[in-house]
Amino acid sequence: MKKIVIAIDGFSSTGKSTIAKQLAKQLNYIYVDTGAMYRAVTYFALENECIGDSFFKEDDLINKLSEITITFKFNEKAGFAEVYLNGKNIESDIRTLKVSKYVSPVATLSEVRRKLVEQQQLMGKDKGIVMDGRDIGTVVFPDAELKIFMTASAETRAKRRYKELLDRGHNLSYEDVLENVTTRDHIDSTREDSPLVKANDAIEIDNSNLTIESQLNRLIQLADDIISK
Ligand code: C5P
Repeated sequence: MKKIVIAIDGFSSTGKSTIAKQLAKQLNYIYVDTGAMYRAVTYFALENECIGDSFFKEDDLINKLSEITITFKFNEKAGFAEVYLNGKNIESDIRTLKVSKYVSPVATLSEVRRKLVEQQQLMGKDKGIVMDGRDIGTVVFPDAELKIFMTASAETRAKRRYKELLDRGHNLSYEDVLENVTTRDHIDSTREDSPLVKANDAIEIDNSNLTIESQLNRLIQLADDIISK
């Protein structure tokens, strides 16, 4: 059967990864969470004191990029591929508000983007992949057969993220989460290299009032239409 590339882009906490994961499972495709890769680089930058509250030693991070190896390994129990930094599972370490706070500045660096985009393109070279992020339909796979652009109001997104973080046992306020979501969207949309924009040929889905099931059904239908053509 024909295999395609499905690119899912959109603002922070629009539920891209939830849908992308399920869509990949349904189609028996590989799922790649590119946000996890930028988070892994940020985690490394924090651990190596390249970034902190009052400093961002961009050149230090750029010089150390060759020391970073990011891999994914499928976790049967979790049902998705977890991210590893230099062989260490950092799946839960990268989901903290601290990493969320520094990830967008790190993702503005062209050297970081070049390294990660190259790896992402390799992962998708045989197609049969669902990849989510900010620049997948515009930069990583401009020829993707199916491109989706997810949106939802900032409040809806912050509420989702807040609940998710509380469920994981994090102690924080809704206001902090809302502030993080809006700041990240601003940096991601206004950066010079690969800003978050909707590709001309992407299908926009505002999921503020949509259930996961209805979004998934719509995406399966869209994918099936292309695959069976
Ligand atoms: O998807 P997630 O919210 O985990 O992404 C974290 C951050 O990584 C984004 O806010 C953005 O700054 C960066 N990112 C990016 N390009 C991608 C994926 C994520 O710049 N393809």
